[in-house]
Amino acid sequence: MKGLYIHIPFCEYICHYCDFVKRVPKNKEMIDEYLQALVKEINQYKDHFESIETIYIGGGTPSMLDQDQLVFLLSHLKDIHPVEFSIEVNPESYTKQKGEIFKKYGINRVSLGVQTFNQDLLHYLNRGHTNDQVFEVVKHLKDIGIELISVDLIYAIPKQTYEDLKYDLIMINKLDISHVSCYSLILEEKTYFYHQYMRGNFKQVDEDVEATMYKMVMDELKKQGFEHYEISNFAKDGHYSFHNLIYWTLGEYIGVGLGAHGFVDGKRTYNERALSKYLDHYLKEETTQIKEMLIQDELIFGLRKISGVNINELENKYDIKLFETYPNLQEKIDIGLVEIDKGYLKLTKQGLFLGNQVFMVFI
Ligand code: SF4
Repeated sequence: MKGLYIHIPFCEYICHYCDFVKRVPKNKEMIDEYLQALVKEINQYKDHFESIETIYIGGGTPSMLDQDQLVFLLSHLKDIHPVEFSIEVNPESYTKQKGEIFKKYGINRVSLGVQTFNQDLLHYLNRGHTNDQVFEVVKHLKDIGIELISVDLIYAIPKQTYEDLKYDLIMINKLDISHVSCYSLILEEKTYFYHQYMRGNFKQVDEDVEATMYKMVMDELKKQGFEHYEISNFAKDGHYSFHNLIYWTLGEYIGVGLGAHGFVDGKRTYNERALSKYLDHYLKEETTQIKEMLIQDELIFGLRKISGVNINELENKYDIKLFETYPNLQEKIDIGLVEIDKGYLKLTKQGLFLGNQVFMVFI
């Protein structure tokens, strides 16, 4: 599969934990100018249009584009016919008219930024929506036939109790959606929370609490009929995120927009992250992946999948012997973080939570 990732780096406000490439736009003209440059970049990849099978419009907040801006962007993608076409939506910037535009231009999957259903915690994260808005968006999307709906959740938020998380998972059940992405809150540099942390005003959740919460998420979503198919992702009835599976299986994807990166013809591309530079010349760097890097990526991304990595396929593809190349891997098996199951190298239940300790072996 080949994917196209399109980055919209604008948000109405900045969440306190966010380290994505984003900014609050000065005015509508700033977004218009960006979209002009973005479309130019998209058109550079016209030769690939026929082979693109997934499109993912992410951000930032793509749903904050106004109707004209959405039509402008989407109309430039009409010659691509993906099987999966996703867009990220924040509940407060969705309107029925925008939903109709999504539908008209072939968007068939929406990833909804919810994070939590607790209003105090939402406020603490600096998010600006209400639970009613979440339910209204999901209802309208279903009404117009966009059935593939994913919700993003965050757990291990300071002050979040087990009861709060339980409530979030009950709400997920009520929404009756096909996909959930659930990440623990990570303290990233250059965020509001990080500044608070440096001043002693932010305390990260204890690791044991975080592990218990992760287990709660896994157990409850399983009960609700979700399949846990990637460290942080859960799907019902095989409705995986095919676009994200491209990343996890080292497939090809084109990345366009501010700060986007791609992987095409064995080369990694990295776009400019500063808006003024991007408007002038989008590509910052292009590097050919050497074999060692490819193997490392195959293992690190591949182990994120619950199904793991097929050892034979990997060894044949790169002409290596896994345990000769990574002798320290055995130690991770011995301490129960990794296992071999029917020819696949996989993280164990414990390893799912401590994946980074395993990934270090390959770096
Ligand atoms: S989390 Fe999403 S909505 Fe919040 S600032 Fe980051 S990109 Fe914007």
